[in-house]
Amino acid sequence: MLGGLSLAHPVLPGPGPHVAGAAEAIKALRGGAAAMVIQTVTLQPAEAASNMRRAAHGKDGLWHMDPCSPLPFDRWVEQEFAPALQAAREAGVPAIASVGYAPDEVAVMGVRLAAMGADALLLDTSRTERAAIQPALQALAGLSLPVLVKLGPHHGEDLADLAAELEPWAAAFCLIGAFGPVLALDADRPGDSPGLGFLSGAPIRPVAQRFVFDVARRVKRPVIAAGGIATGLDAVTAMLLGASAVMVSTAALAGGPGTYGCIAGEVNDWLDGHGYGDSGEIRGAYIRKYGGGQRVVVEKEEAPQLVAEACIKCTFCETVCFYDAITAPAKTLPTIQEAPCFECGLCVSACPTGALQFRPRDEVTRSGGGEGSGPWQS
Ligand code: SF4
Ligand code: SF4
Repeated sequence: MLGGLSLAHPVLPGPGPHVAGAAEAIKALRGGAAAMVIQTVTLQPAEAASNMRRAAHGKDGLWHMDPCSPLPFDRWVEQEFAPALQAAREAGVPAIASVGYAPDEVAVMGVRLAAMGADALLLDTSRTERAAIQPALQALAGLSLPVLVKLGPHHGEDLADLAAELEPWAAAFCLIGAFGPVLALDADRPGDSPGLGFLSGAPIRPVAQRFVFDVARRVKRPVIAAGGIATGLDAVTAMLLGASAVMVSTAALAGGPGTYGCIAGEVNDWLDGHGYGDSGEIRGAYIRKYGGGQRVVVEKEEAPQLVAEACIKCTFCETVCFYDAITAPAKTLPTIQEAPCFECGLCVSACPTGALQFRPRDEVTRSGGGEGSGPWQS
């Protein structure tokens, strides 16, 4: 269950262009999405479809300027929401309508969507002033359906405080979807540079992870992670940080509607492979382990250790070590000197095969190698 919704698995579409209308939302359901979600609608449509622009940003990142649906609300209801709702009913999944942005607008739309049979509303606050979020939620409070609210860092660093204030009216929190506005400029191609817009996908994953952790350890309502979820491992990571479900957007634009089912399958495989019965067993494990203070590598008194059989002798670890603590001649296993090593962790994260792993310093010097147990098993 998620905020009163029954889901077969925890992977949902985010309310973006990959579910621009009923046709795309139905494809998402066929691709394994656990709920029907359509791009955010407003009473007043986006001014022009030409305002929608997108550009690839690095590997697995997306710069975009995606306004809400370009259809007027009444036409959107008839042309998009009604057939999508019907498809959701036939598929036996919840239908979530994403609405924005001002309190008076969402109040009008909420009444209509609730009367049609929407199972939940998602309050999209990407263009809502912080002070208007609570009134918007209160405007929807009289409806007999759960209201999820999407929050992002443009509302401030203290999203946990904001979520705690909003908790009486919110059935669940979605964090963060996208980050921005950002400015993307290429000095050699200024005319083709995207400019001001929003960033989503892999580049914002650590930002989303931070806010999921912040909010999930503060509130009792479920948290949905959105931002850079592209694999089952990303989803599992979000669950360790406290998420009950994930929303997928950029990865589905790149990978197609089958992405949702693929990620859900990968989550199950990870849980099976690690001996867990369901995602509830791992939810918030990071909070329980580090909720009183973030893991800081230098405080752990750990040192990198080579797992020789995993090393492909690529020499990369020698290149990335600023402190000359690693010697890795070509076609030779690297050696790591203890004295100059600052335990910064860069080599461990950069090794392409996972052949370098952190181990307690005394264990490294005593045993000189070997595999350990998984970090989430006690
Ligand atoms: S980066 Fe990893 S795989 Fe490459 S030489 Fe170093 S330990 Fe081996
Ligand atoms: S942990 Fe940092 S200092 Fe130590 S060997 Fe790796 S890169 Fe060098």
